[in-house]
Amino acid sequence: GARRTKNVLILMNDMGGGPRASAEAIRDAFHLEFGNEYRVFLKDVWKERIGWPWNDIDSANNFLLKHRQLHTVLFHFTSVRWIHSFILAALATFYAKEVEAGLMEHNPDIIISAHPFMQHVPLKVLKWQVCRRCFHPGVDRLYSPSEMVAKRALLDSLNESHIRVFALPIRPSFCRAMVRKDDLRVELEMDPQLPAVLLTGGGVGLGPLEETAKALGETLFDEQLAKPIGQLIIICGHNKDLASSLGSLEWKIPVKVRGFENQIEKWMGACDCIVMKAGPGTIAEALIKGLPIILNYYIPGQEEGNVPYVVDNGVGVFIPSPKETAKLVAEWFSTRAEELKNMSQNALQLAQPNAVFDIVKDIHELACQGGTLASIPC
Ligand code: UDP
Repeated sequence: GARRTKNVLILMNDMGGGPRASAEAIRDAFHLEFGNEYRVFLKDVWKERIGWPWNDIDSANNFLLKHRQLHTVLFHFTSVRWIHSFILAALATFYAKEVEAGLMEHNPDIIISAHPFMQHVPLKVLKWQVCRRCFHPGVDRLYSPSEMVAKRALLDSLNESHIRVFALPIRPSFCRAMVRKDDLRVELEMDPQLPAVLLTGGGVGLGPLEETAKALGETLFDEQLAKPIGQLIIICGHNKDLASSLGSLEWKIPVKVRGFENQIEKWMGACDCIVMKAGPGTIAEALIKGLPIILNYYIPGQEEGNVPYVVDNGVGVFIPSPKETAKLVAEWFSTRAEELKNMSQNALQLAQPNAVFDIVKDIHELACQGGTLASIPC
């Protein structure tokens, strides 16, 4: 490979928190692994370049997520292949110029898409580019977190030699820079002794968060001894309504209500278990931090398969009822402490914190080979 700095453009968006977190993970791993050899840009092409309604896709998505039935219907509807292809082809034609301008701004040697929505249109645009001026985008890999997704990709006639199965890329800050739990608790102004449960609903802040928070607030207070047996951290993500309504409540136990946290790894490191929706990013992060998981919600279709992954691997349980969730946490913090410890060990065993480095090393190899892009058909 040449010595000059290569530009890496990562396409993502701020729907939920997943795509941004993956994009940041890859950016940070590039920096740690290769220093100044790569310059990495994160970009939300939709938002920057395309007018309404696409720049407002977050609110559209949030609306859908809050109206679960509709989301289910649309998920299955847009999964039907020809409908999907048709919509995306139409979009590509319509917005090609804007997307192209967004892509070329940073003169990228490598383009990485961190969201499925972010690859169809750019790839279409790039195909035309290849034909018109032999642009060499260097995008020649699919990184799949599971064999199952890889198989789906094969069905979509992706070339097998272009597929790599590595676990989800998680920000290196989750496994590097280990700080002791005691020190984190001091830094975050938490109770130093009481076991702590973290409650979150991903980037959007979804699931029965309010009911669960209230149930935990009651159940983690021992009426007989008149003192708390645990403390509660609630991370509401972008859900501002939730943050303000929970923030105004009175609690019998120590509680912290937070909005979107940029260093969520610190809160995870300071807690003893997590209650969350079945988001893939947060699950992978909880495993790295050795947190036993209670899944209380999943987005129909796209997150459903994550539930058996957690349950069958003995790292957590699925409990949709807020009351039952609170009861289990109280037991984990008292009579069933052994179970909590075992699950924590299982989590650490299952975690794959280094996948992000495998991914950037593989991209580096590809970048050094150069010239692989003959394979994009015109
Ligand atoms: N996240 C964060 N701060 C918050 C809330 C969420 O950094 O306050 C991150 C979280 O660590 C994870 C991502 O957002 O990396 C959420 O991704 P996930 O796949 O769990 O679900 P999504 O929000 O995309 O539906």
